[in-house]
Amino acid sequence: MSQQFLLICECGNEFPILPRHAGESRDCKCGTTIVVPTLRDIRRLPRYEGESAQPDDKKKDAGKSGKKWTIGHGIAFSLGVPIILLSLGWFGYNAWERKRINTDAPTPDDILAASSGILASVDFDDLSLVDSYEQVWKPLRDLSIQTRPLPGYVARREYAAGLGKHMGIAAIAAGIGFLAVAWSLLSSRATFS
Ligand SMILES: [Zn+2]
Repeated sequence: MSQQFLLICECGNEFPILPRHAGESRDCKCGTTIVVPTLRDIRRLPRYEGESAQPDDKKKDAGKSGKKWTIGHGIAFSLGVPIILLSLGWFGYNAWERKRINTDAPTPDDILAASSGILASVDFDDLSLVDSYEQVWKPLRDLSIQTRPLPGYVARREYAAGLGKHMGIAAIAAGIGFLAVAWSLLSSRATFS
């Protein structure tokens, strides 16, 4: 690796150059185009002791754009944005649905009121023994000892817990989306500014 020298723009920006770059030009991000001096004058420039030079093409591109937006950044950004929007929407829907659900267990008063409703709806005068079982005792038994597989409020609680899980997953997905977008924006700017 031959000795590198520093071409310094009037704005202070520095370009490491090699003697074989004599006569070429460099576009500074300040808008100035600096011409690399002749071979003899290059050797009067300050020496550059930094890391060894990257391949010329890469360095020129980086100097021109000042920013490196790769296809990876594009993918991360264009996936990240819809992921954020979708997961926030999903989070909001689940939160709304969850708020809507009444997960309270029925109180003794509720059960009493429901029992009264069943009893009030039956005309005992016309009731056979079988009918009285079907219309009165079976509903009352279901109500009190909850022989149904899942009482309504337990099912609602499980549903609400499921919605809570969805909210958690949506929050994580939104976080991943934010990271992808932040990475694409920050790393593309920070690399060559
Ligand atoms: Zn400059």
